[in-house]
Amino acid sequence: MSLYSIKVRTSLQGNHVSGAERIVSKDKIPDVVRHLLQRQSAKDFDFSNVKIEKLKEKPLILEKSLKIEEKRFTSWQEGLDFAARFLSDYLKIEKNTLEKLIKQLYEGASPDKKNMRGAMVVSTDGLRLEKDPYRGVRTVLVDFVDRERIEEKLLSLGFTPRTVDALAISTKNLAYPDILAEFCISDDSDYTTGYIAIKDKYIRVSPLKPYGLPKGGRVYFVKSNTDIDKLYLYLENTPVLIEDVAL
Ligand code: AMP
Repeated sequence: MSLYSIKVRTSLQGNHVSGAERIVSKDKIPDVVRHLLQRQSAKDFDFSNVKIEKLKEKPLILEKSLKIEEKRFTSWQEGLDFAARFLSDYLKIEKNTLEKLIKQLYEGASPDKKNMRGAMVVSTDGLRLEKDPYRGVRTVLVDFVDRERIEEKLLSLGFTPRTVDALAISTKNLAYPDILAEFCISDDSDYTTGYIAIKDKYIRVSPLKPYGLPKGGRVYFVKSNTDIDKLYLYLENTPVLIEDVAL
């Protein structure tokens, strides 16, 4: 059966507003496109692009997502301290160095201090490896086999639709042998929950950034000898479908 990637991207005055992606069979395309367009209609935008493309290769099937855990704190500083300590131990990167890297997201990680469209790639030596530091790398071509079922399951447990998207992205990321961990805060100023992910866990951290801050981004922590071209090929070109969530 042929599968198609559907990508919707909307912007306002050249600035990114929202984006969504699905991988579906041909017969589902009209319904899914309608659903994605309905979702964006609540937002203010002046440009929207819908791209539908047949997958060029068979998707990699992952049986389970990362396992979701949750940690709550009374302030974002405590959340950040937990995340930095955890990743510092896990990655064997000194906490100060790690914090300096992560803090770039809170100030705008692109050289012009704006948010990046994609993620920073940082080696365990503490070096940034993105080919283009303004853009970063984007994880695309990932979805759940049965998106509706997974969304229903996660929403009924009190998780947000953002968690569904982010869990898919980080599950694809961490399935790649050279990606060891991920750190993420949203660029939405009123969404303060973030997450860290390691090889088998997706840990939601609330709050992880201050309310009102329109900055955010992702850091992918990779092995020091990572082949950057192969990493980009996997993240941007290899389709991945996830069968179920691990809870
Ligand atoms: P979001 O979780 O959509 O609020 O995105 C937070 C930040 O993560 C964005 O500002 C981007 O820097 C980055 N980002 C968003 N989507 C992706 C993606 N698909 N792959 C890599 N980085 C992303």
